[in-house]
Amino acid sequence: MRDGSILHAVSTREPAFRSMQRTRLVDDVTRELREMIVSGELAAGTQLLQVDLAERLGVSRTPLREAFRILENDGLVRTSNGNRTIEVVTIDARQLREMYELREVIDGLAARLAARAGISDETEHDLRRLLDDMEASTKPYDPSRRIEAHARFHSLIAEASGNHRVKDFLPLIRVSSAALYLPFINDPSAVALVDEGHLITHKEAMDSAQQGHEAIVDAIVAGNARKAEAAARRHIAGTLRWVDRLDEWREAIAAAQEVDSSAPA
Ligand SMILES: [Zn+2]
Repeated sequence: MRDGSILHAVSTREPAFRSMQRTRLVDDVTRELREMIVSGELAAGTQLLQVDLAERLGVSRTPLREAFRILENDGLVRTSNGNRTIEVVTIDARQLREMYELREVIDGLAARLAARAGISDETEHDLRRLLDDMEASTKPYDPSRRIEAHARFHSLIAEASGNHRVKDFLPLIRVSSAALYLPFINDPSAVALVDEGHLITHKEAMDSAQQGHEAIVDAIVAGNARKAEAAARRHIAGTLRWVDRLDEWREAIAAAQEVDSSAPA
């Protein structure tokens, strides 16, 4: 009986440890898949079999299934065929508009709370480093770097708000921040886009966003809650204006780059 109880002790401990490891694995797999989706590596509308993805990522199907559930909750994938097939959801302009309408409030609140609470030197350093990263990502254009830095930038402000309910919106912030970028552009300054009747390049649009991002950080660092909220709302409202042009811009860019018809529209 004593042997039995030792065995029992061991067997209850090990699964706990394994489940901790599995949680970390699920996080890694989720992050990897989210990155593949927002970078366009897994194009919108693509159907992938679990068995293919499991092999590609070198994981078993259990953490993959859990990752799919998280991504489905984020609105990035849809599962079908008895959960055997995963389809990457297309985020169109209307869906992105709905996300950004919500974000005008969330990001404004997050910036206000972060400014009021004050941020650590480390957070300020991280925010400024991400500003540098975003700036550098436009010359030459590096969509993956842009996506990661931009999503991280807005997430970090939400985290700095210290409000757990604001932090609940982190997946929405990540997905909507990333969905803006167009992975198949090689040269953003070569593509002319129409914005309120004016022609601008995608590079100019990104430069203008950069000024908006800097204004948010400066107001938060200065501890000016009112100004921080206004800057964040202004930035998101500006982005919202572009969101309405997104489908049109994607077409213009696809035409300019002569991307084949299988590219996301
Ligand atoms: Zn932004």
